[in-house]
Amino acid sequence: MDNEHENVTSSARRRPPSKVWGDESDAVSAALEWAATRTVSASDPKTTARTPEELAADVGDVITPEGLGATEAMRIFSEILAPATRAQDDPLNLAYIPAAPTRAAVAFDEVVASANIFGGLWESGAGAIFAENQALAWLVGLLGWPAEAGGCFVSGGTAGNLSALAAAREAGRARLGGRPDGGFKLACSATAHSSVASSARLLDMDVVSVPVDADDHLTGPAVAAALDADPNIVAVVASAGSTNAGIIDDLAGIAEAAHDHGVWVHVDGAYGGAALCAPSVRDRFHGIEQVDSFTVDPHKWLFAPYDCCALLYRDPTRALATHSQHAAYLDSTERGKQNPADLAAHLTRRTRGLPFWFSLAVHGTDKYSRAVEMCLATAREVADGIDRAEHLRLLRTPELSVVVFDRPGWSWDDYSAWSHRLAVDGVILCTPTRHHGDPALRLAFVNPETEADQVLAILQTLADDPPR
Ligand SMILES: *Cc1c(COP(=O)(O)O)cnc(C)c1O
Repeated sequence: MDNEHENVTSSARRRPPSKVWGDESDAVSAALEWAATRTVSASDPKTTARTPEELAADVGDVITPEGLGATEAMRIFSEILAPATRAQDDPLNLAYIPAAPTRAAVAFDEVVASANIFGGLWESGAGAIFAENQALAWLVGLLGWPAEAGGCFVSGGTAGNLSALAAAREAGRARLGGRPDGGFKLACSATAHSSVASSARLLDMDVVSVPVDADDHLTGPAVAAALDADPNIVAVVASAGSTNAGIIDDLAGIAEAAHDHGVWVHVDGAYGGAALCAPSVRDRFHGIEQVDSFTVDPHKWLFAPYDCCALLYRDPTRALATHSQHAAYLDSTERGKQNPADLAAHLTRRTRGLPFWFSLAVHGTDKYSRAVEMCLATAREVADGIDRAEHLRLLRTPELSVVVFDRPGWSWDDYSAWSHRLAVDGVILCTPTRHHGDPALRLAFVNPETEADQVLAILQTLADDPPR
């Protein structure tokens, strides 16, 4: 067995040099050595965007008739281009939603690239799709959904929300017997992610904004009232962790109200869905067992590299009818939910769920739960510290790992100047946001290496005058 295995990579099976490209050994070594080094290196928090003019001046002409050769092309990437990108995995990058992929997951992305599997159809990607489905099955178990549930990995929450809402709209079309006068609509609250409104535009659906309760949650009674008032609503989108504040809507109430009206419920858990594996907050997701579709980005809080969104349907039948592409050259392949291509708006796809699968397989799900719990604990500790600090005000108790607070007396410009100064110095990435319309600061914890003490020490600088 071992011998057989060795044969696969032995020199006997080496590709002969290409008639066009040669053996490319210098390019292969340069790229893989850089990748191996980067995978185990700490990132530089000072790296940042530069203007196209600055980059053009430093990079020069790269795409030339003769080619630059591997050494020079790699030098340009490593010395000029890569440093002009933000380090998403720095433990003190707490802006937007950062990232914290495991080394195992990052390394396996390099495996996915070299295997170059066509992941659209079972026929060409069976083994890899099987593995992706094992990772999806872990999520299905956390959701409490039946085994018939299914889905696929797409590029991100935006693509996932769009594909799920397309299926929801088609379910609505079937129920209403066609497109109703006035068109299809979806309902969500103002805290829903911007990609929901963007999906609605692409799907030619109007957005009905449903008011939230005093604590910013979308609730069952509010959804029921909206659905009673407007029969054209065919989908309700609830947040399982809003991006700005980590708010989890009343999923049980929303599912009940929507299903009473025959309406599809999509839960956007792009950021927060990861916390389904955290026992300390699992009950906040109560009701998610009943919803129709769900998205979570493993590239946010499940320790996978970009780009990776898990898109799941409790019953994939409607998604199949919505997304299957038919063409003469495709019709000889077997179609159905075994094909990722039949479940979202794509055909060709890389098997981008595999880095997540590999890391889960290597580390086990217990460590995933522990890592998510560590981020939740860090967020609580920082929130408590802010609450105790004389110069700061905690604006809401975190439901997940986003902490929103302000520094009374400071304006938007003060926050921006402070945030910019600390970013340039490579101290912390913490960007301003708005809370109920007023300027505030926001920290998002998805990296188990982040230390609460270190963050609180940096927030002490908010006691001083704003930088000028
Ligand atoms: C990040 C996010 C999205 C968008 O996901 P992308 O992967 O950036 O496309 C959608 N919804 C929520 C709640 C998010 O946090």
